[in-house]
Amino acid sequence: MSSPSFQYSRASEVSDALIQGSRAGTAFVAGGTDLLQLWKAGVIALEGVVDISRLPLDDIEFADGQLSLGALARLSDVAIHPDVTRDHPLIAEAILASASGQIRNMATVGGNLLQRTRCPYFRNEGLACNKRAPGSGCGALFGENRQAALFGGSKSCVATHASDLAVALTALDAEVEVFGAAGARRFPLLDLYRLPAETPERETNLAAGELITGIHVSNASRFAARSTYLKVRDRASFEFAVVSVAAVLRVENGMIVEAKLAAGGVAPMPWRLTRSEAALVGRAPDPQAIATAGDLAIEDARPLAHNGFKIELLRNAVIRALQTIGGRP
Ligand code: SF4
Repeated sequence: MSSPSFQYSRASEVSDALIQGSRAGTAFVAGGTDLLQLWKAGVIALEGVVDISRLPLDDIEFADGQLSLGALARLSDVAIHPDVTRDHPLIAEAILASASGQIRNMATVGGNLLQRTRCPYFRNEGLACNKRAPGSGCGALFGENRQAALFGGSKSCVATHASDLAVALTALDAEVEVFGAAGARRFPLLDLYRLPAETPERETNLAAGELITGIHVSNASRFAARSTYLKVRDRASFEFAVVSVAAVLRVENGMIVEAKLAAGGVAPMPWRLTRSEAALVGRAPDPQAIATAGDLAIEDARPLAHNGFKIELLRNAVIRALQTIGGRP
């Protein structure tokens, strides 16, 4: 009986990683906290991995108003870095609300942004799931869909995105830097993700073999005094968001001059609440303005059989988050 072949290689430079990662059936692995679980459970098939954990991409730098996180920076290191806690506390809060301490010690920024959905049908190879097995159907659509999306889903897939960090970075207008065969490119983090439409198996706009090398957040320290990450989950520790809200405000002379809001647990990607943001600007952070923002956040929600409770939860989470930061000096 022949044993299945599996190829492990370790890259010492980014260019090396791209060459090794171009082999069919090969994935990059760094912390491995999600990828290896999926592989062991038979959810994904791998013919090999390229270990990128030794690449020099773990710097955390703050210069000229820009925070740059190497894609291989560990979540735990980012969360306690003084530049992050001082100027970007939203990022630290979102990370500390994620996973467990042990996982944060292993997991990387880039891997966190690319983690796969927690949809139970996706993670069980015996169940129908278009994302795992295209064309097999979406078990969640008419099945157990308590965790499913309120926004952005399709008949092919209603899964939600699981990253807390991605929600915080979305509210801060972060950009992602990637490197591939065509060279380096940089674009808004939200453009990394795709809605499922008819092809839920394609979750990102990364080209084959492209590697995330860094994340950049520009001029966001102006929000340090008024930012919060509110995560609602089924238990207090190590649980994914049922609903989460990242909120930042800038207030001058009692009036909101900038508002940025993103929600997690409600869509296949971090979900920007642009109508709520627009309704807040130019108003005082008073109960009426905050209530309007909450109402607008849920305007286009499309619930399924078992996730309708998330609509009120989202509205209340937006209101609570804005109340928390609106009243700060
Ligand atoms: Fe699969 Fe998406 Fe349907 Fe879940 S929601 S079963 S991930 S296709």
